[in-house]
Amino acid sequence: MTWHYFFPLRPSKISMRNPVLAFTSLLFAVLAAGQNQAPPSPDQPSMPYTPSLDLTAMDKSVDPCVDFYQYACGGWQTNNPIPPDQTSWSVYAKLYQDNLVFLRAILEQASAGSERDNVNQQIGDFYAACMDESGVEKRGLAALQPDLDAIASLRSVKDMTPLLARLQFAYGQTVLFSQGSTQDPDDSEKQIAELDQGGLGLPDRDYYLKEDAKSKEIRERYRQHVEKVFRLLGESPQTAKKSADTVLRMETALAKAQLTRVARRDPYQLKHKMKIAGLNQITPRVDWRVYYRQLEYPSFEMVNLATPDYFRALNHQLASEPLANWKTYLRFHVADSFSPYLSSTFVDENFAFYRKYLRGAKEQQPRWKRCVQYTDRDLGEALGQVYVQKVFSPELKASTLAMVLGIEDAMGERIRGLDWMSPETKQQALTKLAGIRNKIGYPDKWRDYSSVGIVRTDFAGDVRRAHEFERRREINKVGKPVDHGEWEVSPPTVDAYYDPQMNDINFPAGVLQPPLYDAKLDDAPNYGDTGGTIGHELTHGFDDEGSQFDAKGNLRNWWTKEDRAKFDARTQCVEDQYAQYVVVDEVHINSQLTLGEDVADLGGEILAYIAWKGATANQQLTPVDGLTPEQRFFVGFAQWACANERAEELRMRAVTDEHSPAKYRINGVVVNMPEFSQAFSCRAGQPMVNPPQKVCKVW
Ligand SMILES: [Zn+2]
Repeated sequence: MTWHYFFPLRPSKISMRNPVLAFTSLLFAVLAAGQNQAPPSPDQPSMPYTPSLDLTAMDKSVDPCVDFYQYACGGWQTNNPIPPDQTSWSVYAKLYQDNLVFLRAILEQASAGSERDNVNQQIGDFYAACMDESGVEKRGLAALQPDLDAIASLRSVKDMTPLLARLQFAYGQTVLFSQGSTQDPDDSEKQIAELDQGGLGLPDRDYYLKEDAKSKEIRERYRQHVEKVFRLLGESPQTAKKSADTVLRMETALAKAQLTRVARRDPYQLKHKMKIAGLNQITPRVDWRVYYRQLEYPSFEMVNLATPDYFRALNHQLASEPLANWKTYLRFHVADSFSPYLSSTFVDENFAFYRKYLRGAKEQQPRWKRCVQYTDRDLGEALGQVYVQKVFSPELKASTLAMVLGIEDAMGERIRGLDWMSPETKQQALTKLAGIRNKIGYPDKWRDYSSVGIVRTDFAGDVRRAHEFERRREINKVGKPVDHGEWEVSPPTVDAYYDPQMNDINFPAGVLQPPLYDAKLDDAPNYGDTGGTIGHELTHGFDDEGSQFDAKGNLRNWWTKEDRAKFDARTQCVEDQYAQYVVVDEVHINSQLTLGEDVADLGGEILAYIAWKGATANQQLTPVDGLTPEQRFFVGFAQWACANERAEELRMRAVTDEHSPAKYRINGVVVNMPEFSQAFSCRAGQPMVNPPQKVCKVW
């Protein structure tokens, strides 16, 4: 099942390809700070301050009723060109960049060894190993060599199962499929084993299957990339070319059998619980008892096979492809997935394809920046402990929690007042709302990484051991009760998420900083921005997907038939609206994919507005800097989303991202809010005012 993040480019989970670095960033000033100046003094590091309502970010020459995003963010876009090492640039990315500079100071201090408690030693050694470029260069392929040797000495396809398990434990879902644990969709307090599709080098199945010119070009460039990786592994030009053709052909067959991202938004399509005997029927070519024994799973009854068709196709491929081709496929995925942690030729090739060609970055990020992000990704709750001590005070936790509670009250008010929902369904919705857990800032109990085994001279080995630690942690959950205190992201993460099976909303310390949440400013921009984000996450519990889970996080219908039909008609309105918007060139938003996010954006802002009005009911609000309080609420809202994005990045995200592009996450919302047209005195017929028959409202 999926988590619903607020911002698209969260740091990739370790199971994802090209872990390099999500929504990073850097503005030129910070680039200078990073490359030519010392990081902030370790004794007194502080985060730079930008207010949550920034007048210089606006472009007042634009009529807010014609293009509100441009009005609120036009100045920002002019003043913030995309730094050459970034694929996009935004308020979120800048804040994350500030975090990286800040975390760098923590890590440099830790790696210098002045404080040698457990946590500082772990993060310091990991970071030092990553920064030791000449050591990394010298070690070459050493960390992968035992696996490459094991692949080379494989005797038959039939004997592949234990090797497959071992490779997946180290390299994750890039090796044919993913394995791990999940909450039982029928009993969210239980953890069961799960298997899901995987095994591709490109970001989505569509890349392999679409026949337009751009898709064909990308495939050819990918084929060349695969060929280069084989060359780096020592193959002759002719062999490398043949090997690349083999990988492409095998991945294309796998891609055909994969469930689309849109289909994956239907939780019932991902639910197929069975016993091991069931697995053996669908994929008899994998010996599943051997597989699970090799991975040392706790004993279990049930496994959820998310994508049976994929595993049927995999079985067919295991039966038809000869051993030599499997060796080729495995060799590529082992090397490609670990390229970012190897010597510079691998790092450069990985960058050239995944980040430069596919996403439009002009330059590689400086090494320190990648190393900070790897540390945050792999030891996030160790680094996060030091981070929250410095940036997340008890007062900040209390004030943001109060805002969360205010938005939840607004949601309750909204549900009770809905004119289209029956009292029975309302009662169920209110029960679900009451069941939501609020998690703010950081976990109550920190993850202990002391068993990872970090070696200061072996970076690729450290990454591997950290990933194995994470996979062991996932595997060991099977059969145990669910830990409701667990977080999916580290505290410095500039993002938020809703988890439908946990029924919880999660706001790490990193997303509760200025300019997103600004303790120095008044309520209007803060409710517009962070209030809207809280409302967004809350609404995910009630979007087209989240609404299929009940208060306990079980996949169970709590709607009457009539209410569900009315709800579907309302979400259809949103889907039709966003389908009109163009992402880049000929590419429109795939609004079936973005529906949940679009519904959450709209619902979130409506809730934030109600909560803000409630919180300030007894205050005399006056205009500031020529903007009325209502106008400041909406400008604060829009300014979370100020961004510049490269065409390549937009094109990729149109396929892979469940979020609409930034501009439509603002303009697509305000056209549906009469509160907005009132605030700016917009007239009927103007672009930021949907005609009454087209106004969408779900929650
Ligand atoms: Zn979301």
